[in-house]
Amino acid sequence: MAYYIKKGCIGCHYCELECPAGAIYIQNGFNQIDQEKCIGCGSCVDRCNLDLIASTDPAPAPEKHSPIELSCQLLVIGAGGVGTGAAARAADLGLDVILIEAGKHYGGGTWFAHGGQFPGAHKFYAKLGKPSDIEPQVQFWLRNQKNGYKNMDKLRSNIAANGEFLDWFYELDPSFTAPFVPTPEGVPVAFDMKERHINKKSNDDSIGPGWMGSWITEKLFETAMKKGVRYFNQTRAVEFLCEDDTVTGVLATDPGGEVIIRAGAFILGTGGYMMNDERMRAIDPDMIREDPVATYLRLNVPTNVGDGHEMVEKLGGAVNYGFGGTRGPTHHPWSYAVNMMLMNPEAVFIDAEGKRCFDLSNEPMGGGAPISGPNCTASEIILRQKRGLCYLLMDEAMLERFGSRIRPLDNGRPCPWREEVDAEVALEDVPGRKADTLAALAEKLGIEPETLEATVSRYNGFCAGRQDADFGKKPEHLMAFGEGPYYAFAVRNFDNGASRGGISIDEDFRVLRPDGTVIPGIYCAGDAATYSWTENVGPVGLCGGLAGSWASGYHMAELVKDFLT
Ligand SMILES: Cc1cc2nc3c(=O)[nH]c(=O)nc-3n(C[C@H](O)[C@H](O)[C@H](O)COP(=O)(O)OP(=O)(O)OC[C@H]3O[C@@H](n4cnc5c(N)ncnc54)[C@H](O)[C@@H]3O)c2cc1C
Ligand code: SF4
Ligand code: SF4
Repeated sequence: MAYYIKKGCIGCHYCELECPAGAIYIQNGFNQIDQEKCIGCGSCVDRCNLDLIASTDPAPAPEKHSPIELSCQLLVIGAGGVGTGAAARAADLGLDVILIEAGKHYGGGTWFAHGGQFPGAHKFYAKLGKPSDIEPQVQFWLRNQKNGYKNMDKLRSNIAANGEFLDWFYELDPSFTAPFVPTPEGVPVAFDMKERHINKKSNDDSIGPGWMGSWITEKLFETAMKKGVRYFNQTRAVEFLCEDDTVTGVLATDPGGEVIIRAGAFILGTGGYMMNDERMRAIDPDMIREDPVATYLRLNVPTNVGDGHEMVEKLGGAVNYGFGGTRGPTHHPWSYAVNMMLMNPEAVFIDAEGKRCFDLSNEPMGGGAPISGPNCTASEIILRQKRGLCYLLMDEAMLERFGSRIRPLDNGRPCPWREEVDAEVALEDVPGRKADTLAALAEKLGIEPETLEATVSRYNGFCAGRQDADFGKKPEHLMAFGEGPYYAFAVRNFDNGASRGGISIDEDFRVLRPDGTVIPGIYCAGDAATYSWTENVGPVGLCGGLAGSWASGYHMAELVKDFLT
């Protein structure tokens, strides 16, 4: 029997780590199986959370069953960060819990995430000899947020709430540890991208997504199982069931038929809707195009299609749709050097015509600017380009300077940035992007050489005068273009799930109707929920992001217990 990897691989490395024959390798950014080496053991199949590894043999048809009826106190829907956190904590608090997951594997998008901030984890910090960092974090967010934060108490409690989760988790597993990387302001941040292979090692530690998401989620899932949570995979919630205007259950389907689950309360951890092409096109037709390069690079499980949103809508709940893209290389996994390059403040972003289009030297790549609204900049500009691509322009001296600053990898090995850059410009699925002259580079990119030369000449003028009249780049980042070779790294919109829209909730994660009233017994957080109540407190907002997904699951379980008793 032969095995192969279907389209959609995000290079998480799990299958590769499992393979006893060393038959799985990365080519052009995607994992492949070397048929010569493969011994057909099948071990990799179950390691792929995206269910992308298939055999050439047809799968057996599922056995059909008549409707199954189950009941519990709390039904948790979706076994990603929110769901596993909520189920583990709720069971820890003594609730009778059922957890259902549409996919074959638990983990959701959370499985692939790198890391996040856990400020205020007092016990955990104390173990590592670190002081509490709530106040520096408050100051950090006050300085960095854009829309003007108003409610200081909420900011403080949001920050502290992430830490409460980690302190609890640390009690579950005292072996847990994490690297801390200070921000330029000196605030300790747990888990840097560079440190992503924290508890499991991939074969190449400079490439691929991280393991923090999978590692903590795995522990939470195990905890939930140990504490008696009943778990059903391949069981997809379809709609809420009501009696006399009260929600009493959920209709779900598994491969064999219908499953009806009655419960006193429900937690929706069903993730975002980014894998739903129709929904995405309805938000903006340019997001999903015929040209795969021009289409958003979406990294997530195929089951995150917005089921929770539709269930809430059917119930008369409020849902907002919008989309938040970030910028990234055109493929995934990308190497550490390529990732860092997007944050290289000396580089210059140009659009598909060769004109400067935005400057991100004051903002990290993952700024997550929404594509509409007051913060809309880079993502929307990229979206409107002919092939959905902008370019990061550098000369040899800029590249050298970037390389001299890059930190070693987490195992102490120097980052092989030069090799990674060479591999990046050699990728076949996007335009080639290295040339000795600007004119030759322009030709490779399909742009007018005169336009590119004029862009560079104008920019060099700003560098000479130490003032960027077009985009206000900080003078210390203005470095004039000199000799070739020149590089243009393609930059594309990508999103890893954290939709900006979602199901409307209040501060206690309760699902709301459009008039702001609460639908009793239904709770939601994570990528399925709207971010609005966090008032732009970034990754420390309880509702969103990796840390936020676990922390909100944890806190929701406590609120649900209060509701039920
Ligand atoms: C590649 C990648 C990298 C990331 N990196 C970071 C990072 O470094 N830092 C950070 O803060 N955040 C990061 N994120 C974002 C972060 O992981 C998410 O915001 C967060 O984990 C979402 O958790 P969730 O539980 O809401 O959703 P998910 O983890 O996606 O879980 C949703 C689950 O619900 C299931 N589901 C959907 N519909 C149904 C249904 N009808 N019935 C039953 N189950 C259903 C899905 O199958 C899925 O398992 C990253 C995400 C990805 C994908
Ligand atoms: S079937 Fe076995 S040998 Fe073949 S790629 Fe998968 S894990 Fe490796
Ligand atoms: S997504 Fe991960 S486990 Fe699945 S095929 Fe790709 S590298 Fe392997």
